[in-house]
Amino acid sequence: MQYHLNGFRPGNPEVHPAARARPDAPPKTLDAPPETPDVLPDTLDVLIVGCGPAGLTLAAYLAGFPQISTRIVERKPGPLEKGQADGISCRSMEMFAAFGFADTVIRQGYQVSETTFWAPDPANPAHIARQGRVDDVEEGLSEMPHMILNQARVHDLYLDVMRNAPSRLVPDYGLELAGLTIDPGAAYPVTAMLRDTDTGEIRTCRARYVVGCDGARSAVREAIGLRLEGSSANQAWGVMDILAVTDFPDIRLKTLIKSARDGNVIIIPREGGYLVRLYIEMDQLREGERVSSRAITSETLIAAAQRIFHPFSLDVREVVWWSVYEIGQRLAARFDDLPEAQSATGLPHVFIAGDACHTHSPKAGQGMNVSMGDAFNLGWKLAAVLTGRAPPDLLRSYSAERQAVAADLIAFDRDWARIMSARPGALPAAQSAATADDGEDADFQRHFIAHGRYTAGMSVRYAPSSLIGTARWQALAPGFPIGARFHSAPVVRLSDARPVQLGQIVQADARWRLIAFCPAQEPGPSSAIAELCAFLATSRASPCRRHTPKDADPDAVIDLRAVFPQNRRDLALEAMPPALLPRKGRFGLIDYEKIFCADPSPGRNIYDLRGIDRAQGCLLVLRPDQYVAHLLPLHETGALSDFFAGILTEV
Ligand code: FAD
Repeated sequence: MQYHLNGFRPGNPEVHPAARARPDAPPKTLDAPPETPDVLPDTLDVLIVGCGPAGLTLAAYLAGFPQISTRIVERKPGPLEKGQADGISCRSMEMFAAFGFADTVIRQGYQVSETTFWAPDPANPAHIARQGRVDDVEEGLSEMPHMILNQARVHDLYLDVMRNAPSRLVPDYGLELAGLTIDPGAAYPVTAMLRDTDTGEIRTCRARYVVGCDGARSAVREAIGLRLEGSSANQAWGVMDILAVTDFPDIRLKTLIKSARDGNVIIIPREGGYLVRLYIEMDQLREGERVSSRAITSETLIAAAQRIFHPFSLDVREVVWWSVYEIGQRLAARFDDLPEAQSATGLPHVFIAGDACHTHSPKAGQGMNVSMGDAFNLGWKLAAVLTGRAPPDLLRSYSAERQAVAADLIAFDRDWARIMSARPGALPAAQSAATADDGEDADFQRHFIAHGRYTAGMSVRYAPSSLIGTARWQALAPGFPIGARFHSAPVVRLSDARPVQLGQIVQADARWRLIAFCPAQEPGPSSAIAELCAFLATSRASPCRRHTPKDADPDAVIDLRAVFPQNRRDLALEAMPPALLPRKGRFGLIDYEKIFCADPSPGRNIYDLRGIDRAQGCLLVLRPDQYVAHLLPLHETGALSDFFAGILTEV
């Protein structure tokens, strides 16, 4: 990480200097920054409702922008301590890297490396036997692992980011949204009524934007007249986090057990080495039936699990948390307050994210991950609009992009739930090139492998729009599909020879990135990279000049990086174009972290891994949420300028 840009600061660099006080906040000092003021201001830029994964992702994002007044309210009296979701997909880990805490999750969490499959033993169907094992994540899919960590710990990590951010944001617990009204013509169009859960007192707060991250029974969704459509509560699953003694050998592996007569269990080993989560499939509910009517207890769940584990023993010593989790695949038609007729022209003021707009079965571990993905998409857009970098119509793209993603994932979830519940041996053959061990239930394993990109969070591909360019030049780097998330690869930094993952240049800071992959030519004055740099630094048509405020650092809005195919020792730092060694901050210090070289080690060269055209190179435009927005030849500067002109405000 980079720090000391504006002068030496002792102490933990992850605690950012507190921002200068806003006019509506008490004074803040560096030594004793006050907590977020107790009293909710009358007016706010963004009010977030709900401290689940969606709300906290958004709050952590906006906390980095002290010029945006943000508050997050939660009806519960304090932070979540245990329970709920725990699966963190590779894609979410890539996002955590942008927030700076992926390494903490790797250190504290359980890493899912292998999944095993158990089914009735063909020789004795009353017993279960291992039918196969597969790698949990396809080789090379991401530099990040699939992790398991309690949702409550994920919340803590976000709360740390918020507390250490320049705006020192902390949630307002014990406040619940009781209703909202919208007056589109007002400076603060949304009026929110908030009830103090202790006193019952109602406060009102006017906001430019309200984001409902308030879960499956969202009051925000109801207030804007949207409903979750689809099958509700069709399947009940018991879930329990336990400390147990067992002779089942795969208890520390993610395991799917299908018994002949007693149903299915998913074993999710948990962080810390001892804790285990069991998901136990309960009966299908009748139409309109609620799971509470079944009077299920933790003893019911333990007994069901013991029957499925047979002939292995399961001696439960402590039930840490348990719940009966009843969920269907449901989806809202829109994720904002615009009537359908105004979806292409209106300006939204209220958004919903996470379970408020889509719910999934827990079987594919999507709930928390997709919810965080929604907020990551909305975070940079709100930041861009509220800091004046982009016009408010950018916000229309949130519902358009994320509703399509959720619809796709719900279709996958429905399919996956059907596969999970199928009786052993009852599945048709899966279309998958990947191999699975042969055995009674090999088809089930093939389905698992075929669905791996969905469960890893890598299936998202945004459709062409003003934010996603044409695929005309895709052949310059087929390994970076336009609209998909940037697939990172190793590179070596020129200035200090440090090996790094290129994808990790993206931080949760609403900046766009331009990555110039240079052709195999000397980077002299008439080289393609020198000409591109000259255009970006000096031309009036340069998007970097057009969209960056005069007094800001040159990379404040669009951050230019370059990757060279040459060996690091064959390149001279001093011969690099000045735009790749920009001067920044109050001292005009040089930023040495913009230039990278391909890693020459076998199997690690980014040009080979992603199929980058060595003769022509290419220019990759990366969105602030790590998705590939565009891919162009290095000399297509006109198309580059036009692309940004359609998104960002000219300063
Ligand atoms: P949530 O995490 O639901 O957060 C919404 C927040 O909003 C809550 O903190 C809530 O208190 C708050 N809130 C609600 N209404 C208001 C209001 N009017 N005013 C203020 N605050 C409000 N997923 C799994 O994969 N595995 C599991 O085992 C699992 N178990 C779950 C158990 C429970 C009890 C629940 C609720 C969810 C479970 N999930 C599980 C789902 C998973 O936790 C969600 O998919 C994920 O948390 C969605 O995140 P979110 O931020 O959208 O919503």
